[in-house]
Formats: sequence, C-alpha cells, structure tokens
Amino acid sequence: MASCKFCLTETVDSWFGNWCEKCHRLQRTIHLFGVEKVCNIVDKVLIVDEEQHTNKINTEIAKELFSKEIALKKKRKNKDKETQINSNEVKEV
Ligand SMILES: [Zn+2]
Repeated sequence: MASCKFCLTETVDSWFGNWCEKCHRLQRTIHLFGVEKVCNIVDKVLIVDEEQHTNKINTEIAKELFSKEIALKKKRKNKDKETQINSNEVKEV
C-alpha cells in the first residue's frame, strides 16, 4: 500500500485512501474541537522554545528534590523514634 500523504510515514488505511489511520484520527479530532483549538494545543504543548524547555526541566528537578527531601525527613523521624524506643527499653531493663 502507499504511504500516507499527510504524515508521509505510515501506510494508508485503505486501498483508495490517502491518509493513514492515525491521520484520520487527527482529522476527526480537528472536526470535533476545531482547527484553531488543536493548533493552539500543539503550539503550547509541543512547540516550546529553549527558555521554556529549561524552565520545565528546572521545575521538574525542583519537584523531585522536594519529594526526596520530604522522604529523607520522614526516614530521619522514624529513625529517631526507633532510637528513642530502644533507649527506653534499655532503661527499663
Ligand atoms: Zn498519516
């Protein structure tokens, strides 16, 4: 079968068709939501400049560091509780 005339990578979904299954799905999405809305989403989500890309990476790194810090604090708290319990047991004996 021939290749899709829209994406140029997939094969067409029928003998007399011009587009593949994925491009037909995109077409139905455009009909459903409107071409402006779909283009805006593509622009905002997929097409970002270098500064936005760096900001996104920094935000994700900050989130990960924050969650690791919280996990570390919880671990220390539990360890402190265990040492307190152990020291109390030693005093009782
Ligand atoms: Zn296609």
